[in-house]
Amino acid sequence: MNRKLRIGVIGGGIGGAALTASLQQWGMEAHLFERTAAFREVGAGVQMTPNAVKVLKALGLDGELQRLGYLPQAIVGRNWRTGREKFRTPLSDACPQLFGAEFYHLHRADLLAMLIGLVDARFITHNARCVSVLNLDGKAVARFDNGEQFEADVIVGADGVHSVVRDALFGDEAPRFTGHICWRAAIALGERSDFISPVSAVWLGPNGHVVTYTISGGRVLNIVAVSEAADWQEASWHLPSNRDELLRTFSGWHPDLLRILSCAQNVLKWGLFDRDPMQRWSQGHITLLGDAAHPMLPFLAQGAAMAIEDGYVLASVLAANAGDIPEALRLYEDERLPRTSRVQLSARERGKIYHLPTPWQQFRRDVRYRFNALMNPHACGLEANWVFSYDATAFSPPAGETRPFGG
Ligand SMILES: Cc1cc2nc3c(=O)[nH]c(=O)nc-3n(C[C@H](O)[C@H](O)[C@H](O)COP(=O)(O)OP(=O)(O)OC[C@H]3O[C@@H](n4cnc5c(N)ncnc54)[C@H](O)[C@@H]3O)c2cc1C
Repeated sequence: MNRKLRIGVIGGGIGGAALTASLQQWGMEAHLFERTAAFREVGAGVQMTPNAVKVLKALGLDGELQRLGYLPQAIVGRNWRTGREKFRTPLSDACPQLFGAEFYHLHRADLLAMLIGLVDARFITHNARCVSVLNLDGKAVARFDNGEQFEADVIVGADGVHSVVRDALFGDEAPRFTGHICWRAAIALGERSDFISPVSAVWLGPNGHVVTYTISGGRVLNIVAVSEAADWQEASWHLPSNRDELLRTFSGWHPDLLRILSCAQNVLKWGLFDRDPMQRWSQGHITLLGDAAHPMLPFLAQGAAMAIEDGYVLASVLAANAGDIPEALRLYEDERLPRTSRVQLSARERGKIYHLPTPWQQFRRDVRYRFNALMNPHACGLEANWVFSYDATAFSPPAGETRPFGG
């Protein structure tokens, strides 16, 4: 008898939602379990780079992206004190041509809502906090804090950086504080048309950087400001903050930037955590995805993008190898682990380059930007062509045994 593969996805963030949507589109019975009573995302922006946009379009979200996304003309790097332009990477015209898809800015809530909109609501369970997972007789079982359990062919931990599923498989080693604090804020642009800019700006300073870009179809300016700190003593990994603290931290930076920061609303402060790349993500019929597998610094804007790619690749290997789950999960790791590990490590490096402390080091970096721009303006500043050119939708997994699943 043929039956559909049954999958349990733990965590309804961007990664879990993208995976569940992909699995259902590949014809599998995918169930999504989220610990909160409603789906929610931070009130902030997210950059969706061409590699992620290829997957979102393959899932059928082209129209939604056009409706809710913002297409920046370019990313411009600026000196923190002089405001002088140090690099300009063209995006809106260049990305479809070079990488086969657009570069969008989105509100995170819009991105999550469009992914959840693809998922059959009958297969979503809220208030379902997973407390443990285990492999049992060729199946996987997830247990929840209300005493219920869910048995499936595969359980996927998409439960974020503090993943319970990861802990159950590989031990509860805490994520590493990276030495970075990040403020996120927004400005409703209704009253501030002088802040509207078709480009996204990266202000590069000693031991910190600030990114500003437009989201919500051009109605909101998103701010991400990063500064280095020795440690993070707070019990929570994000806290309310305020514009005074933001202005204090970035005092002495260019007046144009301070003018923006002085209008910041809804300021939140985050400690940034990551992990070293793992050797494996899977055991038996259980695996990991997104931040649960590869939490990273946000300096390449790739955490959610990697989770979205993971989801599409995992769905395709499970569809092609339904009869041998451990083999399917091995193929998933083979395809995804080298790429996500490289992105994790590159994001750390990017932080060091953006935050060079002395004027001499900054000068040498900026000369290199100028030289790169002469050679190839698309490879300058972001230096992420290898990230953007990947196409998860073109990945063709080797098919496993031809025996039908469940037969
Ligand atoms: C400042 C900043 C800026 C960023 N900018 C970008 C960007 O521009 N582009 C980009 O691609 N990435 C960006 N990222 C990274 C991105 O936000 C994350 O990588 C991404 O959101 C991870 O998604 P996830 O679904 O794996 O995990 P999460 O978003 O953490 O979702 C996990 C979900 O699991 C649920 N959950 C947790 N534990 C349990 C449990 N035990 N049982 C059930 N449910 C559970 C949670 O409630 C949550 O809904 C940024 C990150 C930061 C900090």
